[in-house]
Amino acid sequence: MIKKGHGAGRWEKGEELVFVALGGLGEIGMNMYLYGYGSQDARQWMMVDCGITFPEGENDPGIDVILPDVRFIEENRDTLTGIVLTHAHEDHVGAVIELWPRLKAPIYATAFTAGMLRAKLAEYGGGLELPIHVVPLDGKFTVGPFDVELVTLAHSIPEMSALALRTPAGLVFHTGDWKLDEKPLIGDPLDVTRLSSLGDKGVLALVCDSTNAYREGTSPSEAEVAQSITEIIGGAGGRVAVTCFSSNVARIKTVWAAAQATGRDLVVAGRALHRVISVAIDTGYLPKSFKYLDQDQFGYLERSKVVLLCTGSQGEPRAALARIAEDEHADISFAKGDLVIYSTRAIPGNEKAVGRIQNSLAAMGCALLTDSDALVHVSGHPRRDELRQMYRWMRPQVVVPMHGEARHIEAQAALAREMGVRDVFPVLDGEIVRLAPDPAVIDEAPVGRLFRDGRLLIPESDGPVHERRKLSYVGIVVVSICQSPRGEVLGEPQAILDGVPQETADGEAMLDVVLDAIDGTLKSVPRQRRKGQNLVAEAVRRAVRAAVGEVWGKKPICKVLINVIDE
Ligand SMILES: [Zn+2]
Ligand SMILES: [Zn+2]
Repeated sequence: MIKKGHGAGRWEKGEELVFVALGGLGEIGMNMYLYGYGSQDARQWMMVDCGITFPEGENDPGIDVILPDVRFIEENRDTLTGIVLTHAHEDHVGAVIELWPRLKAPIYATAFTAGMLRAKLAEYGGGLELPIHVVPLDGKFTVGPFDVELVTLAHSIPEMSALALRTPAGLVFHTGDWKLDEKPLIGDPLDVTRLSSLGDKGVLALVCDSTNAYREGTSPSEAEVAQSITEIIGGAGGRVAVTCFSSNVARIKTVWAAAQATGRDLVVAGRALHRVISVAIDTGYLPKSFKYLDQDQFGYLERSKVVLLCTGSQGEPRAALARIAEDEHADISFAKGDLVIYSTRAIPGNEKAVGRIQNSLAAMGCALLTDSDALVHVSGHPRRDELRQMYRWMRPQVVVPMHGEARHIEAQAALAREMGVRDVFPVLDGEIVRLAPDPAVIDEAPVGRLFRDGRLLIPESDGPVHERRKLSYVGIVVVSICQSPRGEVLGEPQAILDGVPQETADGEAMLDVVLDAIDGTLKSVPRQRRKGQNLVAEAVRRAVRAAVGEVWGKKPICKVLINVIDE
């Protein structure tokens, strides 16, 4: 399956190394990057990551998940030589199961990332089988024209693997999501000499995480967070709940260790946490001695003898914490004097949902502790001093900032220029950058978003979500009129109002306003012309919208059905 590449081979005339993102540059999430190598009409591609993002509240009604539109690579599927996954966060692997049938390329991932993907596949894959090649940590392998070397970096999940990509045109370092952490709690500390030796050999391009590019300083270590959480739990008198991202194995380990250190039993609630814990024990990131009680034990434990680790840190309405906050959890209840620690930060767009749950907990009398009160969370992304350090190691000729909204990407671009990098490309999704020779933006690939709508994947531009948005603002009036083939109105026209106020300010029924408008219009259209059903429908539609608009100040959507009934 693994073919010999020519990473160290000769650079033939006309061959180019290019980079393009189908997601990840311009909005948070949905990371999907492509590297291409070869002459313009014979490029071979390698995909790095295949992630999802989530809709922001009411903007995309009815949509659970957003995926990148992959038509650019789908149209040239036979040129896609492989999909390499840097780590198991949903914004990097969440679209694999749904999009793989359109891509059909071999997948490369380390054991933990592969384990997480397989656990999800077993739950949601519907029998789909994926050709996952498990590659060793810090391993080397070949994907099409790319010689790939993995470099483990610290992040908020185990086995975050940066990629050193060797091609005849030069070496690219694709960081993935990373931070510098001397005491990451999970995995080995950073191998500094390895990074600086990559720089010594010469790095053509650095493609680098921009998430925290305008936060000054250096992120605290995971070990400092652990110490702080342990102290807080030690000082608590009642029950303690900790909620964090379920994939943050270091944090799970911290809460477990803190429970042991403070003489409390650990209870775990939430399916996503159970899944991660099982994969982490299998891959050695949690000890075999990692034990916890199931949630049905919670009620039997003394208040001062329990720590609950639970899902729901992002305000997810069906997760454990949301149900606890509404006092609707079958096994777990919290009350006055108990403490809830948010060992996390709300992803932009989730703040309102998180706030609602925090309000319910506060109303119950629970104390809340978030990362603005104490060191209970640290981001997994590099701040400016960490970025500077990476530049000093890599000394790249080209920088492409990735993983962020436009403002984050611009912030890192400015920093890169400050650090003396010659060619900086703060590009957005779809812009194709030639990394070598002659770095430049050379072309544009079609990009977009796919909505998961129930069981279907629909392009954002297809419309149903746009229509739903409009419906949510103005509601709808549906009118039904029966006519004879000669254009006589049969019976009474009917109307249904949905999402429209029932009464006007004067107390008149809105339905009557609608029916009067219909009658008036039908009377004013001469019978001869009523045979033109589209014309009648359009006249009624306009009249209804105008009449309702006059008393409401807003015009509803109006649909008119004309049924011609043979006598
Ligand atoms: Zn990410
Ligand atoms: Zn990540």
